[in-house]
Amino acid sequence: MLETGRLKSQLRGDLIQPGDAAYESARRVNNGMIDRHPALIARCVDASDVAACVNFALESGLLLAVRGGGHNVAGMSTCDGGLVLDLGRMRSVRVDPVARTARVEGGATLGDVDHATHGFGLTVPTGVLSTTGIAGLALCGGTGYLSRRFGLTLDNLLEADVVLADGRFVIANERENADLFWAVRGGGGNFGVVTSFLFRLHPVHTVIAGPVLWPLERAAEALRFFSEFIAKAPEDISGLFAFLKVPPGPPFPEHLHRQNVCGVVFCYTGSPEKFEEVYRPFRAFAPPAFELLVPMPFPVLQSMFDGLWPPGLQQYWRADNFGEFSDAAIAAQVEWGSRIPTQLSAIFIYPIDGAVHRVAESATAFSYRDVKWAEVIVGADPDAANNDAMIGWVKKCWEAVHPYSAGGAYLNFIGEEGQDRIRASYRGNYSRLAAVKKKYDPNNFFRLNQNIPPET
Ligand code: FAD
Repeated sequence: MLETGRLKSQLRGDLIQPGDAAYESARRVNNGMIDRHPALIARCVDASDVAACVNFALESGLLLAVRGGGHNVAGMSTCDGGLVLDLGRMRSVRVDPVARTARVEGGATLGDVDHATHGFGLTVPTGVLSTTGIAGLALCGGTGYLSRRFGLTLDNLLEADVVLADGRFVIANERENADLFWAVRGGGGNFGVVTSFLFRLHPVHTVIAGPVLWPLERAAEALRFFSEFIAKAPEDISGLFAFLKVPPGPPFPEHLHRQNVCGVVFCYTGSPEKFEEVYRPFRAFAPPAFELLVPMPFPVLQSMFDGLWPPGLQQYWRADNFGEFSDAAIAAQVEWGSRIPTQLSAIFIYPIDGAVHRVAESATAFSYRDVKWAEVIVGADPDAANNDAMIGWVKKCWEAVHPYSAGGAYLNFIGEEGQDRIRASYRGNYSRLAAVKKKYDPNNFFRLNQNIPPET
């Protein structure tokens, strides 16, 4: 029996236990396949609450799960029988428009960040769905429409407030605890609970953006054309390439609903007068089956696909990083892209070049600075009855494309795939990460993550 009275008395936030009315919804994470029952869920409101939870878990020998936005596909932000430290009540964002920085609390979503910064005509480069948590995303990487121009989310991190494995609070930046600052830029939740982030902001307000689709018969050409276009294009244009089933609703025309297609969601942040010139190569490419490229406020693009992704979908993902796509690699993508098993399953290919490549491989813990694409094969469906077909497709697709990959993956795009996969994804930075882990978390207290055990 857990003695929770002392923890309760130290918290300003809520402590939720099995049997409480809020327990069922509080224990859920984004992936509906994850069905875990923690002993306690603490909804923290500040760093003191966070430290109290860390100390309580240490003293009572409880497994600790740390939750930002709860989007991790492997369910690493929850556990059975342990304490979930939920930062979902810590979502404030304070913008300094003069310094062009934003102080963001550890439970904020991308939507919280976009909303607060957009009012100042500024933004942090993040991911492409507004309900994702900034914490998990930024601590491992953070790739989206603005990566080519402004780098990964973690490349724009200036400082982090961290509660360590012994309950101490520290600040990590280039001057203070620089080793920790290096490690949290890519090393995920291995080193402590980040209660707040300080990000550099960039001027982005209205973008020209939206989806362009091509029939599957043109998919090999489209992927080849897109990859060659991106290699030469200015950094103010980017796009997310996908194999997908067309959503069955507006703005897509009815004859395309539920059809397997390929497409790109483009995002152009440069001067509107120059858009046609930059986009011209695509005007000369095959006529699209559908195109909706219009000016829109950046947060509209960021939340454009939220409605397609309600919480609780069954999800199974695999991923890889790629350099150039050979013809054989493209053929494998097209073959499996044409066999998408459920309406929401898809293959997404994110460009990670431009500003991402200008950061040295050892400058942060994120090591894949030389590849061009981060690909994720997403199996998703509301109905668990489709899980076998969906998981089977993801695995077979991954087996077909993996031989052409660079070896490792973006760790935010994979589930629990074992230590070799984690090592392959950190490459030359792995041993330095293990040494920093030994210094800051020698007992591997923070282990519900893409885990880096302390150096032995
Ligand atoms: P959580 O599940 O809360 O946490 C993930 C991990 O981070 C866990 O190990 C957790 O313990 C740790 N953690 C969380 N908060 C903290 C904290 N404050 N301090 C320390 N550790 C913490 N990624 C991209 O880069 N680009 C995208 O466009 C993108 N799109 C996505 C779309 C969907 C629908 C989903 C489900 C995910 C997407 N992702 C994307 C992947 C996303 O980056 C990861 O799922 C990420 O882990 C989400 O962070 P979170 O805070 O929501 O996750």
